[in-house]
Amino acid sequence: MKFNFPVGALEQIQTPFYYYDMEILNSTLSTIQQEAGQYGFKVHYAVKANANDRILKTICDAGFGADCVSGNEVKKAIETGFNASGIVFAGVGKADWEINLGLDNDIACFNVESIPELEIIDELAGLKGKIAKVALRINPNVNANTHHYITTGLEENKFGINQWDLDNVVYVLNSLKNVELEGIHFHIGSQITDLLSFKDLCIRVNELQKWFISRHICPKVVNVGGGLGIDYEQPDSKSIPDFKSFFKLFDEFLELQPDQELHFELGRSVVAQCGALLTKVLYVKNGVNTKFAIVDAGMSDLIRPALYQAYHKIENLSSDKEEEKYDVVGPICESSDCFGKAVDLPHTSRGDLIAIRSTGAYGEIMANRYNLRELPIAYYSDEL
Ligand SMILES: *Cc1c(COP(=O)(O)O)cnc(C)c1O
Repeated sequence: MKFNFPVGALEQIQTPFYYYDMEILNSTLSTIQQEAGQYGFKVHYAVKANANDRILKTICDAGFGADCVSGNEVKKAIETGFNASGIVFAGVGKADWEINLGLDNDIACFNVESIPELEIIDELAGLKGKIAKVALRINPNVNANTHHYITTGLEENKFGINQWDLDNVVYVLNSLKNVELEGIHFHIGSQITDLLSFKDLCIRVNELQKWFISRHICPKVVNVGGGLGIDYEQPDSKSIPDFKSFFKLFDEFLELQPDQELHFELGRSVVAQCGALLTKVLYVKNGVNTKFAIVDAGMSDLIRPALYQAYHKIENLSSDKEEEKYDVVGPICESSDCFGKAVDLPHTSRGDLIAIRSTGAYGEIMANRYNLRELPIAYYSDEL
């Protein structure tokens, strides 16, 4: 399915802004529900990828659960209409008020990352006379082969409980009265394009399951997190990630116990391809060997290229002249405020409308007001 740009209408709107193709979002959602549903897998949407009201509502209405990493995300998920019984709460540093918020709302599960956290959840639950359901986030020591800023499943990362601590954790868990083991949880990283990393994860999970079973523990839920990558190079021909192979791999390689549920937490793969950042060219400036297309969007609107050296496809929607190379840069006073170097674009002039593709995930949500710029606003294909 091809992303649809109604160029005439978009040219009338003040730039920069995010534009969401709701048809892409809806067909992505129904693909996921179909591919995961056939195996009985449950998918929680990772709210941190994009918490825009309309996007979130659409995902909620499609029947997804929510994966939250802050108290405000839990609050937002509940306000949007996600059922508390479908909300999981992860994060290495949950503050007391955030844990209390989760307890007050009876969320499905806290994904716990350390013994001290487990003890605090127990204490706070006890004060409320509640039993908190917890999943242990275990560090599987699987390499996701992705950018080191978004690799989270190695022993050296700050995330999760390492295997040599598990004996201790289970001992503590058994001694606490106000927490109950609901599941085991994993998340190895983000933008993972080699499915073999997920196969490695399955094999590790199977080993760890044996460890638990030998201790007569059978967690109800196995949650394997998110991380499925998208194709940033081909946003049109690959607008919907290969969910079929992804879920099939888990069905094939992950050995569930009878009555055990398999859960996922997908963020990027759900929303990345439905969004684009639209910006206009302010000036074309000739450098020594380079032509700069200076646009009115900056790293405050989309920080991924500056933060992770991320690639986003860039298109000129206004011109079909002969191609030339441009460095596409923003107006912010940082050299890292660059969306792409030596980008092939048709001959570009002031006023041309530029689309920066695949920015539905970790785009709008990471926008900030550096240089006192305005936050970008959003438009939707079904409202134009
Ligand atoms: C960020 C995150 C996700 C989602 O990751 P994606 O790569 O966007 O799918 C899932 N689970 C946890 C715990 C996370 O921190």
